[in-house]
Amino acid sequence: MAKTDDEQPQALRLSSRCPPWFASSFQHLLNRHRQGRLPHALLLSGAAEVGKRWFAEHLVKALLCRADTNSVPSIPCGQCASCAQLQSGSSSEFRYLTPAGKSMTIRIDPVRELVDWLQLSASAGRYRIALITGADSMNRAAANALLKTLEEPAANSLCILVADKPALLPATIMSRCQKMVLSIEEPQQAVDWLQPQLSTNVSAGAALDAARGAPLRALRETQPEWQSQRAVIDAAWWNLLLHKRSVGAIVESLKDVPLESCLSRFMALCADAARVQVGASALASAEPLSEEQRAAHQRLKSEQWFTIHDQLLNLYRIDSASFKTQTVLEGFLADTRLKLNG
Ligand SMILES: [Zn+2]
Repeated sequence: MAKTDDEQPQALRLSSRCPPWFASSFQHLLNRHRQGRLPHALLLSGAAEVGKRWFAEHLVKALLCRADTNSVPSIPCGQCASCAQLQSGSSSEFRYLTPAGKSMTIRIDPVRELVDWLQLSASAGRYRIALITGADSMNRAAANALLKTLEEPAANSLCILVADKPALLPATIMSRCQKMVLSIEEPQQAVDWLQPQLSTNVSAGAALDAARGAPLRALRETQPEWQSQRAVIDAAWWNLLLHKRSVGAIVESLKDVPLESCLSRFMALCADAARVQVGASALASAEPLSEEQRAAHQRLKSEQWFTIHDQLLNLYRIDSASFKTQTVLEGFLADTRLKLNG
């Protein structure tokens, strides 16, 4: 890669298991491979942090595993030369492309390089696989560059695109990919996976609920890093409600927080505000509310808090608009401040 800005992690680090809640989707793709019907381009979509990238990495490992020369294993062996190379990032049959740089977009130069590489012929009976995560953050020029390989794919090449918001991809890209929507097949499988990773006093079911059903988010939000991120989001909330900082300054303070985390935390705080209205104690806040904070929650009626909550939920569900994080937050915060003033 030409610039350090675009430096890509090539190693596959996640576990050799497929996310258990996507087992049948995985089996489906494996069957297609065995029938020689795997497409040249596959677009995996689904909610943020449900395990799409993990699924894709597992698929790559399985398709390239050399443990059995006659078939692709459901579980990559983790021992053969190919598995070892994938884990060390030195595989000549695999390329990884993720959003990079300050803007977290996928730019044209690395895509061009990837396309050139993908056009080289694969060894007999082997795949040459490119995995593009955050594909919905490709800029227009990058998407156009990618089209070349989707229109005229080399034999045995496989391009896997992963996107939270596939509707942001140009129609020309969409129409050339086989689409697969990954959603949790059986929630209990996510609970069973999550519970052993949490301390015993935390319920996996409750953690999943708080994370809107996304297992990887549920895990992330029970880690210490999330506790500090949550403090940043909570501070932004109170700065908004107590008029301590401008909307612009609040948006700036949230620049390192993923939008989904921010919106779902705001939803929890909003629900708290509505609860305060009816005299219940707040549940989401880590600390008991101060008088000033209680008063701020009482500035709006509970119906108004529910309206704000619905607004947040709609923003959370948006998957078709090309909104930038900053624009979404700015609009929401400015609107809420108006309501508080009114
Ligand atoms: Zn292997």
